[in-house]
Amino acid sequence: MDIRTKAGELVSINPADGSEVARVAVTTPQELDAIVARAQKAYRETGWKELMPHKRAEVLHAIANGLLAEKETLASLQMRDNGKPISECRGMVDYAVGTFRYYASVCETLETDVTPRRGDYVSFTVLEPYGVVAAITPWNSPIMNDAAKVAPALAAGNAVILKPSEDAPLLAPELVRIAAAAGLPDGLLQVVQGYGADIGAALVAHKGVGMISFTGGTATGRAIGRVAGERIVPVALELGGKSPHVVFADANLEHAVAAVAAGIFGSSGQSCVAGSRLLVEESVYDEVVTRLVERAKRIVVAAPDAKGVEVGPLASFHHRDRVHAFVERARAEGGRVLCGGSAPEGAAYETGAYYLPTVIDGLPHDALSCQEEAFGPVLVVLPFKDEADLVAKANGTDFGLACGIWTENFKKAWRTGRALEAGSVWINTYKQSVTSTPFGGFKDSGIGREKGIDGLRLYAQVKSMYFGLHENPLPIAK
Ligand code: NDP
Repeated sequence: MDIRTKAGELVSINPADGSEVARVAVTTPQELDAIVARAQKAYRETGWKELMPHKRAEVLHAIANGLLAEKETLASLQMRDNGKPISECRGMVDYAVGTFRYYASVCETLETDVTPRRGDYVSFTVLEPYGVVAAITPWNSPIMNDAAKVAPALAAGNAVILKPSEDAPLLAPELVRIAAAAGLPDGLLQVVQGYGADIGAALVAHKGVGMISFTGGTATGRAIGRVAGERIVPVALELGGKSPHVVFADANLEHAVAAVAAGIFGSSGQSCVAGSRLLVEESVYDEVVTRLVERAKRIVVAAPDAKGVEVGPLASFHHRDRVHAFVERARAEGGRVLCGGSAPEGAAYETGAYYLPTVIDGLPHDALSCQEEAFGPVLVVLPFKDEADLVAKANGTDFGLACGIWTENFKKAWRTGRALEAGSVWINTYKQSVTSTPFGGFKDSGIGREKGIDGLRLYAQVKSMYFGLHENPLPIAK
């Protein structure tokens, strides 16, 4: 989807065919002030944070029901908004439903601590919300990423202001509408629309915002982190990756190659955990690369609602230009493009932002193409000699989001899994994701963990309380 501001509007373009999907109004700075004030008022006056957890959970379940009831419409809207295959879009709505249900359960069951005492008092902790949370999301998986922030932030008792990407603005207002219909008190969930550098930056800097939760690129995350540091407000950052996908010689090569292809070409590679660096043990390098290239050439690139589609268009025409520039730079760095490296040819592709699954090898590990994220269907392949060489290469980037390891030797899998610097390690599988399991990055891939029980604590601050049980007045000196 390509979006360009026209007289204060974002225009959503379907990347499958270039048609206009919808327009949304850009939020002005004055409107932002009013939205933050409304969120603060809702936080203070609706009684949401004082509501018993099981009552808050009821609303979260009602939101889940509302999303499920509109699954087809939402999936279709997301497909047109960012070009993902319809089956993936349906899966993302299901994921969002599951996220609201999961945090309803966590909300109801989360316990705090009665701490060991050393005097005549009872000491314990309670969790308090931050107030107004700014939730900023990227364009690749809108409904899923929005839910990943909104559900736990609401469960913890906050008000939320959601800022979707200018490149995928259509799902966030739907979530707000569904939440309101589900009984969420007025003003607790609102959306701002517009460019990140304008309205996103203004939201982050706004004095009325008490916590920032961001998913997006590392450079943006760094800029937001600087502002949060200056303001002394907590910030959670889910950032980019250049995740290594490792194939040892003793792996089940059929399964490994299938997972490598799924891990980089699924969602057209527009996934933070795409396995975009393939590291193959030298003795099976030629065999793995040959099989992989053969598989990549057979991938069905088609319209996102076409029968049998495996890979749809990229999310926007300008993003396709970026991905192609990445491939051209890899060529200039000495890379051999083994397949892909261009848009597909033919009438069916002419009006869409399609790009062929691309495999590149022959690059040194320190080439920019092996270090930077393409966020597209582009895989770089490198050989490794032994475990030491593998660990050095796999850890040799600034990122640390995820990795995949294929071996039939469980001790080697354990050693390698512990040695690799990554927030998620997949052994003999790839890109599995469940709301109950923490997710986040090492190194430049982020700070904090979303999902899991602690995903709710991310949006709450601990308050320590003491109840005195003294029989006598307190002395001045003990
Ligand atoms: P960006 O960092 O460009 O944008 C992410 C969001 O931040 C968008 O809503 C954007 O708005 C907004 N934004 C941009 N600049 C600012 C600013 N100065 N202040 C506040 N908000 C701002 O990332 P992309 O949208 O291009 O998404 C791709 C990136 O996201 C990749 O690096 C990918 O790896 C990462 N990602 C990480 C995930 C994770 O969980 N770790 C999951 C999914 C993606 P606008 O679009 O309008 O500019």
